Parts: sequence; C-alpha cells; structure tokens
Amino acid sequence: MDFQDKTLNCRDCNKEFVWTAGEQSFYQEKGFQNPPARCPDCRAARKANRSSGQQYEITCAECGKTDTVPFQPRNPSTVLCSECFKAKRGQQPKEEPGEEPKTEEPKEEPTEEPKEEPKEKPKEKSKE
Ligand SMILES: [Zn+2]
Ligand SMILES: [Zn+2]
Repeated sequence: MDFQDKTLNCRDCNKEFVWTAGEQSFYQEKGFQNPPARCPDCRAARKANRSSGQQYEITCAECGKTDTVPFQPRNPSTVLCSECFKAKRGQQPKEEPGEEPKTEEPKEEPTEEPKEEPKEKPKEKSKE
C-alpha cells in the first residue's frame, strides 16, 4: 500500500502537522486504528511531562512524614520517605553469602601466664 503524507490538526495546539507516509505505515504495522492526535512537538512535550513532572505523595511508614516520590509506590503502606529509605539502606549490611572474608579473628593467643615471681630474690641486701 502506498501512503501519502497527510496534514492533520494537532488536538493540543491546533497547529497543522504532517503525518508522514512513513509514520502511517508504522501505524499500520502496529495496528493503530487512529491517526496521531497531536503534533510531534506536543507529543514530545507530553512525554517529557510524564517522565519528569509526576510526583506521588506518600506517607512514610517509618516516621510518618509526608514526602513525594517520583514513582508510584507499589505498596503505599510500606513506603518510606527518602530519608528513612537512605537510613535503612545504610544500615543493612550487604549480605554476601559464602564470601564473608573472615578478618583478623585472632587465633588463640598464647595466654601469657602471669610470671611467677622469682622465688629466689636477688639478695640485694648483703650483710655488711
Ligand atoms: Zn501540537
Ligand atoms: Zn521517614
């Protein structure tokens, strides 16, 4: 099928834009039923908005503070504010099974027995 460039009106800015033959064939390949409703500019703007602007308000499960996160929390009741999240992450040591380097565990140190006082004290005091 041959496609020809079409001129459409953008739903957002009302500007005319060209729906190119290439795009039309792409749309058909993908099985999209409708032509694009927005010009490429507006589409890009919407996309940018979606990825950067959206913040979700959460209540921290740890300290109760409200905070915003750039993603939709999967489980809002266990979500943490950024501070608690950081704190928690900092606390938990990485568990690396099997490869724990055993460091400097002192082998049985020879217990130093308290030196017995020499029985034979040097007799300093000599009879004069
Ligand atoms: Zn537009
Ligand atoms: Zn918190």
